[in-house]
Amino acid sequence: MWKITVDEKCTGCAECVDSCPGEVYELREGKAVPVNTDECHGCHTCEAVCDDDACHVEEEE
Ligand code: SF4
Ligand code: SF4
Repeated sequence: MWKITVDEKCTGCAECVDSCPGEVYELREGKAVPVNTDECHGCHTCEAVCDDDACHVEEEE
């Protein structure tokens, strides 16, 4: 399981929404929200494309 968080630095640029292969994120009210976390396979693409270091993917037990 992967734990996905988006912090207050999110600018709503949608790079993570557009680049996530699992379509994990949706843009809601100008912020990225992880909605399909079951589809995450831990590729870390979202973190790589986020210029604001706002999304975080951590492995969960
Ligand atoms: S890439 Fe980063 S700043 Fe852009 S919408 Fe996603 S979390 Fe927010
Ligand atoms: S780690 Fe990969 S699959 Fe998981 S939310 Fe980020 S881009 Fe999507």
